[in-house]
Amino acid sequence: DDRISRISSSIRVIPDFPKPGIMFQDITTLLLDPKAFKDTIDLFVERYKDKNINVVAGVEARGFIFGPPIALAIGAKFVPMRKPKKLPGEVISEEYSLEYGTDKIEMHVGAVQPGERAVVVDDLIATGGTLTAAINLLERVGVEVVECACVIELPELKGRDRLGEKQLFVLVSST
Ligand code: IMP
Repeated sequence: DDRISRISSSIRVIPDFPKPGIMFQDITTLLLDPKAFKDTIDLFVERYKDKNINVVAGVEARGFIFGPPIALAIGAKFVPMRKPKKLPGEVISEEYSLEYGTDKIEMHVGAVQPGERAVVVDDLIATGGTLTAAINLLERVGVEVVECACVIELPELKGRDRLGEKQLFVLVSST
């Protein structure tokens, strides 16, 4: 698919960011290429448009870039899953482990209803910790998480295994 190769080549890799040894996958260069950005959204929309998805849940921060255009195109609501203490209303939160320590994501109480069907969107899956926390949060309130969708997968970190049975759809694999 030449859409995939255009997307793949529009992603910039920055070595040693934010720490030495990390090869940071930078999607801001994808956003500078309107065709690559549109193709990215179109590929997700083609996949989810006829699947009765009610909720697109986007993980802060780059899930907020890719999630809303997908939600608008498929007629779903967009639900932000935020870092702690950002959402003003009552929240439920889910903690998850990082390489050193823990982190947390939060969602507004009442944003989703039991029985709704969700796709969780982020730019990238590494260890899968962030997406697992997002899935847990949604499932705790009775939402059916149909799939996770990312632009990029780092397969060496085996995030796909951490998601277990949950389906993962990615556009680009990066080694
Ligand atoms: P995980 O929880 O280990 O799967 O890490 C995924 C989270 O870290 C996502 O929210 C990503 O946005 C972020 N992340 C990790 N590595 C990169 C990268 O190379 N580029 C962009 N985001 C990254």
